[in-house]
Amino acid sequence: MSAPRDRRPPADEPLGSITRPLADETATAPACYGCGATDLTRVRLAMPDSRPAVFASCPDCEATAWFVVDGDGTALGPDGVARP
Ligand SMILES: [Zn+2]
Repeated sequence: MSAPRDRRPPADEPLGSITRPLADETATAPACYGCGATDLTRVRLAMPDSRPAVFASCPDCEATAWFVVDGDGTALGPDGVARP
């Protein structure tokens, strides 16, 4: 019997956090990596490895990307690898 490790949910991410103000997500996901638009749809989620992240979708060019919260603003693909 082996207990799963590194699967703890972030203590500061309660369920229902989507109801919190979303204004601070702009700093995490500043702009579309494809066209530079800033009017993105942003959803606060967690990466499969439990890192808090923001999923951003661009209404202009339909590009999507992940941005790690408190990261360097790099747009990541669904596999966690930086977009070109
Ligand atoms: Zn775009």
